Amino acid sequence: MNIKMQRNDLPKVRGEYLFDYALRSQSFFKVGGNCNVMFIPADVDDLLQFLTKKSQDLKITMLGNMSNILISDYGIQGCAIQLKNLNKIDFSDNYVEVQAGTLLSKFISTCTKKEVSCCEKLCCIPGTIGGAIFMNAGIPGFEISDVLISVSGVNFSGEKRTFAKDELNVTYRCGNIPNDFIVTSVRLKTFSKDTSQILNEIKELQAKRLKSQPIGQATCGSTFKNPSGARAWELIKQAGCDKLSVGGAKVSEKHCNFLVNTGNAKASDFVKLIDIIKSKVFEQTGYKLQEEIKRIGDKW
Ligand SMILES: Cc1cc2nc3c(=O)[nH]c(=O)nc-3n(C[C@H](O)[C@H](O)[C@H](O)COP(=O)(O)OP(=O)(O)OC[C@H]3O[C@@H](n4cnc5c(N)ncnc54)[C@H](O)[C@@H]3O)c2cc1C
Repeated sequence: MNIKMQRNDLPKVRGEYLFDYALRSQSFFKVGGNCNVMFIPADVDDLLQFLTKKSQDLKITMLGNMSNILISDYGIQGCAIQLKNLNKIDFSDNYVEVQAGTLLSKFISTCTKKEVSCCEKLCCIPGTIGGAIFMNAGIPGFEISDVLISVSGVNFSGEKRTFAKDELNVTYRCGNIPNDFIVTSVRLKTFSKDTSQILNEIKELQAKRLKSQPIGQATCGSTFKNPSGARAWELIKQAGCDKLSVGGAKVSEKHCNFLVNTGNAKASDFVKLIDIIKSKVFEQTGYKLQEEIKRIGDKW
């Protein structure tokens, strides 16, 4: 990456700037180059200060916990933003307001202790609330939009806005959040449920996952969306792609819609593997698979 960015090029903030920051080790695929700068705002006001004062041509990329993104080997030009310090959870009678940087796991364990049912079905998803809303994360029979009331945030120019659920037209694995919008908090419906009942449901879901998914390996979960009326993993198997690999990128032996990094993969290996799977599945089954994972960064 040839752009060198310095503190003087950026607004004064209370949060952290990390220059020429390596993303590879944090990303769930363990691939990708550096970003010119990573900004971790101290709070929402700090984020607003940054957005209203930054140069207009500074490119912004939002990152959650990086569990659903393939980062380019050339990295991310401009500024990546992570909301690690936005992790407040405020309970009211029938709803909860939760900030976007909160990990689903932390949110669910806080709810469980308070005998509050909300998103416990998403207990095995390793993302943040912001990432889950952007992706409309879910499992068969439940997605986060089922309990969504509203999404609040700010656009890249610093203008605040709240979207009611109905304004978003959420669909399968797509929260339909505008591309220049940063989710800072969401309001979700809550119900009361015994802690022990929630814990039992979580235990069952975790046991199921352990059997069927390559937990502990470098992966971003399902690579492709399920086409309507079919399951991506069945189509991949049917097309004979369940044992394919390119460089260090390999189709998981446990779940063939998951791709894993066997140690030294590049983002370009994953891209080649994805393209091969797409064309073989199309040739063999007539289905055009669509990626669920998001490509982030430059020079694809
Ligand atoms: C082992 C494993 C199992 C998984 N199982 C499931 C599953 O069952 N169901 C499922 O739906 N997903 C699953 N996933 C995928 C992933 O965890 C989810 O998509 C998750 O919601 C992504 O959240 P994240 O914070 O990691 O977002 P990231 O991967 O960092 O980002 C995803 C997208 O959201 C955008 N984004 C993130 N935060 C914000 C924000 N605050 N404002 C605006 N945009 C934002 C990013 O720009 C990017 O486009 C799995 C992943 C793994 C590794």
